[in-house]
Parts: sequence; C-alpha cells; structure tokens
Amino acid sequence: MAPNAAGRGAIRVSMASNEGGEPFIDFLERHPLTWERLLHVLPDGVAFVDDEGIIRHANGVFTALTGYDLDELVGRPVEDIVPSGARAAHVAQRRRFSDEGRVRTMGRHLNLALARRDGSELAVDIALAPIVLDGRRWIITLVRDTSAERSAARARDEIEQRFRLAFEENMAPMAFTDLDDRCIAVNDAFCAMLGRSREELLDGDSSVFTHPEDLGITESVQQRLLAGDVERVRYIKRYVKPDGRVIVVEISKSTARTERGDILYFVNSERDITDELELADQLAHQALHDPLTGLANRSLFDDRLAQAFERVGRYGGFGAVLLIDLDDFKGINDTRGHIVGDELLAAVAGRMQSVTRASDTLCRFGGDEFLYLAEGLASDEEAQQVAARLLGVFDEAFAMSATVVEQRASIGVVSFDAGRADRDTLVRDADVALYEAKRAGKNRAVAFDPSMHHRATSHFELARELRHALAADELAMHYQPIVELSTMTVVGFEALMRWQHPTHGFVAPSVFIPLAEETGLIVELGAFALREAIAAAATWAPDGPYLTVNLSARQFHDPDLVATIERELKASGLAPGRLVLEVTESATLSDVAETLDVIDRLTSHGIGIALDDFGTGYSSLHYLTLVHPQIIKIDQSFVSPTHDPRTRTLLETIVTLGQKLDVEVLAEGIETDEQLSRLRALGCDLGQGYLFAPAVAAAEAAALATRRFGV
Ligand code: C2E
Ligand code: MG
Ligand code: MG
Repeated sequence: MAPNAAGRGAIRVSMASNEGGEPFIDFLERHPLTWERLLHVLPDGVAFVDDEGIIRHANGVFTALTGYDLDELVGRPVEDIVPSGARAAHVAQRRRFSDEGRVRTMGRHLNLALARRDGSELAVDIALAPIVLDGRRWIITLVRDTSAERSAARARDEIEQRFRLAFEENMAPMAFTDLDDRCIAVNDAFCAMLGRSREELLDGDSSVFTHPEDLGITESVQQRLLAGDVERVRYIKRYVKPDGRVIVVEISKSTARTERGDILYFVNSERDITDELELADQLAHQALHDPLTGLANRSLFDDRLAQAFERVGRYGGFGAVLLIDLDDFKGINDTRGHIVGDELLAAVAGRMQSVTRASDTLCRFGGDEFLYLAEGLASDEEAQQVAARLLGVFDEAFAMSATVVEQRASIGVVSFDAGRADRDTLVRDADVALYEAKRAGKNRAVAFDPSMHHRATSHFELARELRHALAADELAMHYQPIVELSTMTVVGFEALMRWQHPTHGFVAPSVFIPLAEETGLIVELGAFALREAIAAAATWAPDGPYLTVNLSARQFHDPDLVATIERELKASGLAPGRLVLEVTESATLSDVAETLDVIDRLTSHGIGIALDDFGTGYSSLHYLTLVHPQIIKIDQSFVSPTHDPRTRTLLETIVTLGQKLDVEVLAEGIETDEQLSRLRALGCDLGQGYLFAPAVAAAEAAALATRRFGV
C-alpha cells in the first residue's frame, strides 16, 4: 500500500462488484468500514489532529513510532512530536496548510523526522490530508518510518564515496571503458599518464591515443573476456602522447557485470612500464658488454663460444680462442694514473675491433685481458694469422689526449675442431699458452701445446687440496660489516669464506669457490659456512646485526639444504629473521621451479633473501620479480668510478627501482668517500666496502658491530 493512500481523496470503485452483480461501492455503503478498523490494518502511523493542532486520536503504529501511549498522546499539541529545530515554524506551517486544504505528501528529500518520547529522532516520510467533519477542519497525519531506508541510502552513499576515492585518488592510472573501447570514466593518474585532459579522453575513442600498430589488441582482449573463460587479462599496449612520445603500458583488464552477468563496462588498471623496459634493455646490454670499451663481456663470449663449438661439431672446420694480454700495462696505470689507463684500454679495444671480422667476437675478459673468438677457419694454422693481425695493431703508438704511449701485447692461442671434447678448458689452455708467450719475452703469440699442461695440473692439485682443507681446519669465515648509509651504523655482516693454504698462503674465494662448485665440494663448504656463521651470529646481541651468508647455485639442488639451515638455527638459537641468504641469478637459471620452491620454504621460516651481484646477469629484472628479495646487492662494477655515463645512470635507476619495489638496495665495494657521498645522495639504503672495513675474523666483527662510521 502506498504511504499516502489515505490522502488521495475519494476512492472510486467503478468496475469491481460483489457476487450479486451489485456495484462494489454500493456494497461498501451497506457494510460501512469503521475508521477504527481501517486504522488498525494500515501499516503506517495515523493521527487525527484538530484545527488547534491538538492530537485527538492515533493508531497503534503511530503510538509505537512516537513511543507515547495513546492516552499520553491525546490532547497533546502536534508540535510535541516535531523535532525541536522545526517546532517554532511548525505552527504557522500547519495553519497555512489547513487553510489551503490540499492533500500533501512530504518525501525524504525534506529529511523529515519525528521527536520521540525518549528524546530521540526517527526519520520519517509524512503525508497530510485535510478533511472537514461536522464543519470542523481536521488533519489526518500519516507517518511512515524510513530510518532503515535512510541508513541503507547512507551506507550506499558511503560505499560510493569510498569507491570514488579509491578510483579517483588511486596512484595507478585507471579507466572504465565501454564495449567500443571508449572511456566512460578516467582518474587523474590516467590523464597524467597520457598527458591529456579528462574531457579529451572521455570525448573521443581510444584510437586517438593508441599506437596505430596496437589498435587491434584491445578488441582481441575483450573477446576473451566476453567469452567468459577468463576473469582478467593482462596485456601490453603502446599509447602516443600529444607530443608524439610513445609509452608502453601494462594493462590489467577485468569486467564489471550486472547481477545477471551481463557486462556493464571494462575496468582497466594500467602501469607505465616504459622506463622499466628501457632499464631492462640497458641491463641486458650492460650484462653483455663491458662499459669501458663497449666490447662483448665474458657472458656474451661464453655464449658465442658455445655456439661456435656446436657449429664446428656439426659442419667441421676450425675455431680458435686467443687470449690477449697487454704487456706491462700495470706500469701505465701506476705511473700515469687510471684515467690514462682507461683511455688506453678503450683505444686498444677500438683498434682490435677494427680488425675483428664480422663473424668473430672480441671480448674484454677483465683488466687488460681480451679474448678473441675466431670462427670458420680452414686450418688451425689460420689461427696464427689472426694472432698476427691482432699483434699488428700495436705496431703504431697510441696517441692519448695528453700523451703518446707505446703499448705491446702477448697472445696465447688455442685452436679447436670437432675432435675437441671440452669447451670449458679452452680459455685455461689459452692462458697456459699466454704464460709461455710472456715467459718467452712478451710481444708475441704462442700456440697452446698439451706439454704446457703444468698449470692445468696445479688447478687439479688445488681441487684435491681443497677437499682436505675442511678437515685440516684451513677454512674460516670472516665477516664484512653492512652499513646503513643514513645512520652510518653497522646493521649486518656478510660472511665470506677464507682459505689459509699451508704453502700458497691465502687463496681468494674467487679461485676456490668456482673450483668447489665444479667439483661439487661446495655443498660441504656451504654447510660449513652456514654452521660457522650462524654460530658466530648467535653470540652477537639479540637485537644486534643480521647475518648474510652466500649460497651457491649447486646448494639449491642439495635436498638437505632447508633441513641443514633449520637445524643450525635451532642449535644456535639464532632467530630466523636475522639470517639473510645471498643468492645470485645463476642459482635460479638452472631449475627455476625447484629453486623458487626452496626459496619459498626458507622465507616461510622468516629467513630473508638478498640478490647478490645484481645487474651482472642476463635477466636480473626477471629474476627480481620471481624472487621478491629483501635486499638487492648492486654489483661493485656499478659502484666503482667510471667515465661511462650509462653505468652512472644505471646505478641511479637501480636505486630508484629498489625504492619503488620497496626492496632495500645495498651497494657493494664502496672504496672511496666520493662513492659514499654519491650513494648517500642517491638515497641508497645500505653499503659495504673497504672504506668501512674488509671482512674480518669473528672476534673483530663483534667489536665492529657497535661502531658508527664518520659521515
Ligand atoms: P660477493 O658475495 O659478491 O662478496 C663480495 C666480495 O667483494 C668479497 O670478496 C668482498 O671481500 C669483496 N669486497 C668487499 N668490499 C670490497 C671493496 O671495497 N672493494 C673490492 N674490490 N672488493 C670488496 P671475496 O671475499 O673475495 O669473495 C668473492 C666471492 O666469493 C663472493 O662475492 C661470493 O660470491 C663468493 N663467496 C665468498 N664466500 C662464500 C661462501 O661462504 N659461500 C659461497 N657460496 N660463496 C662465497
Ligand atoms: Mg655476497
Ligand atoms: Mg656481490
């Protein structure tokens, strides 16, 4: 029943009739319905108010709504149930209304309320119907409780408001689009990303700002969503800004549907990934090239060598690896400084590059060493011709910006054909030949001969000795402080392994760790490192620095790894949250699923993960998204001084990337105050390097833990 049914005046019943065919209205006349009964069945509150504004009668609903008993209500001025704020004006309003004599309904837009007996107010709709009985004016007042409706409306408003905020204030660019890919709503971030006004975007269709080659993408994505096999589709698309600049965005598109499942519109949450892609390109280039000379680096060389090996195996012919080392280059660096040294390296690289055939690869191997991969040789003697061509570039002196330098080089040459089984030892053999070239007086090329094998044997010997080093107590863990750059206090230590060889003295981890990895001994060495380091860290203050321990790729395939770590933590009492494991990209490359599983099991215990040597691999970025580390350790090559502006930009970009992803960024190998202040200015979180301290024995580490470094 409508709330104001009683206010509609006379009820006309023209069609209905009782059973005898008598018009229904006549039937009603014969059986008058009493007011009281009508009042009783009405769902709304009804009161009779006389021309003085006094309540004379009310139904049960009315008394219930007001909270008064009927005998309390009768005789009371109607103003008593008008909220105090509206009471003063009410008397005049009531008189005017009574004089007009028209039925009137007052809806919720007026926000009407009833003052209840207990002082509370109740939201209501009111309908007033003036009638004349026995010559006196009365007002029938109908009241309907709308509090439930109003609070529902309020809740709806609130949800809408919250939603609007979430949409409009969202930092992520968002748009709602219709089936024709026209924008029906966009937020500020979306406008900012596209560099266009809201009006512009809502006006035209998306082809205005979509890259012409990407016009078909949206339609195919929408087809998939419309087909209903997926809830959400992620895809990449290019937009064109008004200034012509192209940006690449990642879009996550889902649908808003009616209750019946019909699509209302599409919800697009977008992300500008232009910079990220650029960074990925730069990193990929950086990963494969030497920043100083622009030549291929070792990774790229290894890759090309593998391909060359395969080609020789399949099609025959010869290939050769030449290891080129500049003679007495260290003297240039020492006497004329690094800047001249760098300039000379770049000049040497340039000249060698100019005699490198398109099918060959020239690589900077490190320091003043270069590798040349020659392919498609008809005989192994041709390798000597390549060597002669390379030596030829040193005949003429190098004119530097400030000086002229005479520079010579020595070359070790090793050729290979389909009969050669082992690619990994090629460079080592070239190194043996190079050693012979140096010994024979430098400035020459020497071809490898298996009789020169003494060096390789010593490698083998070392591997054998390493096996005994553990038992012989020659291995120890040292600890290098990790410094929080904002406070310059020590917040962690990286455990680094040391081998004190009885006759060779100190052997560097860069020599014996790869050896241990080759021979599989790394699993035992790794377990030793974990045991020693965790035990040492457990003696530090309970809220003291955390410990980072390096993990090799091989250790991930050790089925006991997680159990070993758990056992050592339990035995020592070190909280898992104070242990961070350093992993490199090579760890995940071998078996991604298995490695991620191990990492998940470790992190579920509260153990942290740091990405070591970040930026030096092929796919650092990809790896970063897979592993979700707490710390990124930027490789020293990005931190050390360089004249290459790209490397400087990369360092900045990686720091920014870390901030965006909420990952702490640590700079490795800080050696100078200049590097430190640059890193601090960039907002890099953590640092490690000889400027603070090298790795020290456990006893010294404990003393370093509370040290604050000067700013
Ligand atoms: P990493 O994990 O990247 O360790 C950093 C290396 O940089 C360490 O070399 C450290 O001594 C060195 N370093 C620190 N500050 C500076 C600096 O200011 N300048 C320079 N030039 N170098 C600095 P280290 O100890 O020779 O270790 C070399 C690599 O051997 C480590 O690289 C790590 O990959 C591996 N390694 C060391 N200990 C272990 C271990 O217990 N387990 C495994 N799996 N690998 C280890
Ligand atoms: Mg490390
Ligand atoms: Mg590192």
